[in-house]
Amino acid sequence: MQQLLEQLTALHGPSGHEQPVSKWVRDTVKPLVDEVKVDALGNVIAVKKGARQGPAMVMTAHMDEVGFIVKKIEESGLLRFEKLGGNDDRLLLTQKVQLRTKSGLLTGVIGSISAHYAKFDDAGKVRNHRQLYIDIGAKNKEHAIELGVEVGTPVTWKPDMEFLGNETTGRFVGKGFDDRAGCAVLIQTLQELQDEDFAGTVTAVFTVQEEVGLRGAQVAARQVEADVAIALDTTAVSDTPEETMDASLALGAGTGIKVLDFSLISHPAVKEKLIRLANDNKITYQLEVFPGIGTDGGAMSLANHGIPTGVLSIPSRYAHSPVEVIDMEDLVATKELLKAFVLDLSEKSGFDFIN
Ligand SMILES: [Zn+2]
Repeated sequence: MQQLLEQLTALHGPSGHEQPVSKWVRDTVKPLVDEVKVDALGNVIAVKKGARQGPAMVMTAHMDEVGFIVKKIEESGLLRFEKLGGNDDRLLLTQKVQLRTKSGLLTGVIGSISAHYAKFDDAGKVRNHRQLYIDIGAKNKEHAIELGVEVGTPVTWKPDMEFLGNETTGRFVGKGFDDRAGCAVLIQTLQELQDEDFAGTVTAVFTVQEEVGLRGAQVAARQVEADVAIALDTTAVSDTPEETMDASLALGAGTGIKVLDFSLISHPAVKEKLIRLANDNKITYQLEVFPGIGTDGGAMSLANHGIPTGVLSIPSRYAHSPVEVIDMEDLVATKELLKAFVLDLSEKSGFDFIN
């Protein structure tokens, strides 16, 4: 799964500009499934049929990552930008970014005043992203255009995945783990289902535009039959010492079984089944109540006539930054529980609200 994660996080795909990810995911899952298509918005929908009759299950992860988009090229060659998704203004200064132009990738940095000038500035000031700029080394506007930049050029953090500490920690640092980590788990699960005998149909949906309001999932959900859905996404742990942290979720403490976030109150039958399977299979888990995020699970649950939906959360620190941190053991626990859920499906599986 480490290799899958490395390949996925290196891809450039902020919201609405996921083409490299859609293409890579489609080509990678093609030999693992019965049918795969890319819909009009870019969602990749892959169907794998089981050996026996059973329910239609959907599992999702989003392919897009937070990023930026070029708004204006100044005469100086510096670039003004807008956000794609929820970026924190406090994290922007002096970070490396990567621009995807029609002629290739460019390295840029978000500029900041030199430390030598800082004494003339208000030390507590946080500049809005509209006051900032991306420097790609262009000498002037014409030069920036020659390099391939235009209004609308998409931008991400510069990819640079590595072990945090060293390889003994099992923890990785990089950009876009939200939610390429979920994509890696979905693909790994499809690979492991190759040798398994399961009931029903599993549809893996890799969505676009989650970070700008669950848009891809809304469109994808209308195209699939689903008796039950599980969304995979990262969640923010609260195990660091800032005063806003309540230590309710921890890195390395297992997959998060969602109880509630702002987009979803998990369906009781799905949640209870996940908890039972985690206990039966000795998979480490933690229950997640965190109103600070929403996931594609929210959109799935409201689709069609309503789909019983649960979410497995991959714990992460420093979300939406270039240095997101995840733990491989959490990733493996998430994959194990998702796989156990698929293998437990049978013709008798029901997800009634009242039992
Ligand atoms: Zn996410």
